[in-house]
Parts: sequence; C-alpha cells; structure tokens
Amino acid sequence: MPSPTSEGKADLHLHTIYSDGTESPTRVVEMAQAAGLRAMAITDHDILDSYPEASSAAQARGIELIPGIEMSAALDGIEVHVLGFFLDLACQPLQQLLAEQRQRRIGRIREMVGRLQQLGLHLEADEVFAVAGPQGSVGRPHVAQALVKRGYVATEKEAFDRYIKNDGPAFVPGSSLSPKFVIQMIRQAGGIPALAHPIYLKDDALIERFTNEGLLGLEVYHSSHAPDVVQRYERIADELGLLKTGGSDYHGRGKEGAEIGSTTIPYSLVEALKAWKREQTQTSCESP
Ligand code: AMP
Ligand code: ZN
Ligand code: FE
Ligand code: FE
Repeated sequence: MPSPTSEGKADLHLHTIYSDGTESPTRVVEMAQAAGLRAMAITDHDILDSYPEASSAAQARGIELIPGIEMSAALDGIEVHVLGFFLDLACQPLQQLLAEQRQRRIGRIREMVGRLQQLGLHLEADEVFAVAGPQGSVGRPHVAQALVKRGYVATEKEAFDRYIKNDGPAFVPGSSLSPKFVIQMIRQAGGIPALAHPIYLKDDALIERFTNEGLLGLEVYHSSHAPDVVQRYERIADELGLLKTGGSDYHGRGKEGAEIGSTTIPYSLVEALKAWKREQTQTSCESP
C-alpha cells in the first residue's frame, strides 16, 4: 500500500498561450483540476512567463504547480527537446538565454516565411506574429495556423507535412544550442533536465550520451509513446539511473489525442523529483 501522501497523479508536460498552446495558464490549471490531477507542470517552449498566473490559479484550486520549461536544442540537424523541472525562476543567466532564444525564434520565423514566399505563398511574418499573440515564444504551429487562415492548407498537420516538418522545404532549425549546453543551463538554474519524448529522436543511444552530459531524467510516459515503447524507456531509465517523468504534451485546440491528464505519472515519481531537488544544496546561477 502506498502511503496516503503518495497517492494521486500528475501531468508534467503542458503548453499554454505563452508558447504554442491555445489556452491561458488559468484555463490549463482549471482543466488539470477537472481531470483530477494532484500536480502539474507547464512546460512552454523556451519561456517561463506563464508561472505567476498559473501559480495563483493553482493555489486557489489546491493543485501543486511545478516550475517547468521545454527548451529546444539541436544536434546534427536533429531537434532535441529538453524539459526542465523545479528551476529557479529568478536565475538571470537562464532568463537571459531564454530571451535570446525567443529573439532567435522571431528571426527564424522571418526566414521560414521568406522560404514560403519563394515557394509562391503569400504570407507575411506579421501574420504569424499576430497568430502567436503579443507575449511569449513564437513557433512553427503559429506558422501552420497562419497558413490555415490564408487557406493554403486545410489543417495544421497539412502545413507541417507539406512545408515545415523537420525536413520540409520551408523548415529552419529552432535552436543552435547543443543538448549538452541546455542540460547544463537547466542544472545551473537548480533544475532537473529530462529528455522529452525520446521516441522522436529515433536513436536510443543518444539517451546514454546525454546522461553522460548531465541529463537526470527521461520522459518515459508521453502521449506519443505506445505501451511497448513505454516499457522500453522504463528499462532504459532504470539502466541509466534516470528519473522518470511524463505528461500529455497538451497544446489545446487543434491537436487531438493529447488532452490534459490523458498521460499521467503516479505522484510517487513527483516525490522522486522533489527528493533529488532537496538534495541539491546550491545552484550556481550567479555565474554566467
Ligand atoms: P518549434 O519549437 O517552433 O520548432 O515547434 C515545435 C512544435 O511544433 C512542437 O512542440 C509541436 O507542437 C509542433 N510540431 C512539430 N512537428 C510537428 C508535426 N510533424 N506535425 C504537427 N505538429 C508538429
Ligand atoms: Zn509545441
Ligand atoms: Fe517537444
Ligand atoms: Fe511539448
């Protein structure tokens, strides 16, 4: 029997309007409550700014909110997403890096729009920025939504398949940071770096490499992981001594199959993350 304090479930991979999700932090917390979750983490791409609003909403509703992020890195042209949990939000070197990454994302959207124009599509970067909204981190799903709005494609998925998927004709990489650097930045900020949706990497050997570079966790449970895939990653996490994390990767309207709470982890795994965090006596956030 688990002790009463270990009961409950958590979803540690959620997006909001601060990146490419469609719902506000408050709405996401409300939906987490409706799904009966005990704990949650918002993991927007390259941004921590949903935390103040989400934290108030979570306190009011009695849900535990873990500070989180999903940072983009690249390795030999492959996109690598690294989740970070329990980060020190006041960590200036991290916040500075994130601001630079978001600026880079803006330039990257202009480049992608330029490529779409060369392909004969009439689209302006400002239309993408309008879809993304005034605050936050702009990304490919916003390009996809702008293409749907223009009528060039019927769905966001079609926009990815025809133009902006990783080897698509208008794709531009989202980050020039190495996974090693991102892992180390998250640790410097007192956070726990966990490799997101490892299935997308199509190369399990990378997990060991990243572990040697400081990775501490693996997103074993994810809405794109079939049961046999989950078993494989459970085994790899145990072999490498990695903490196990998981979540739905909820993005909101327009992305079915990844509702809040559709993929959860037992609260005992959150306790394991917290135990690791407690053992950390200091962060080296001050040094650049
Ligand atoms: P970005 O960080 O701008 O490269 O955008 C990454 C996001 O795009 C992911 O978090 C997904 O939400 C979405 N995405 C990536 N690949 C695809 C795809 N093939 N089909 C649909 N959405 C995708
Ligand atoms: Zn996303
Ligand atoms: Fe991701
Ligand atoms: Fe995600």
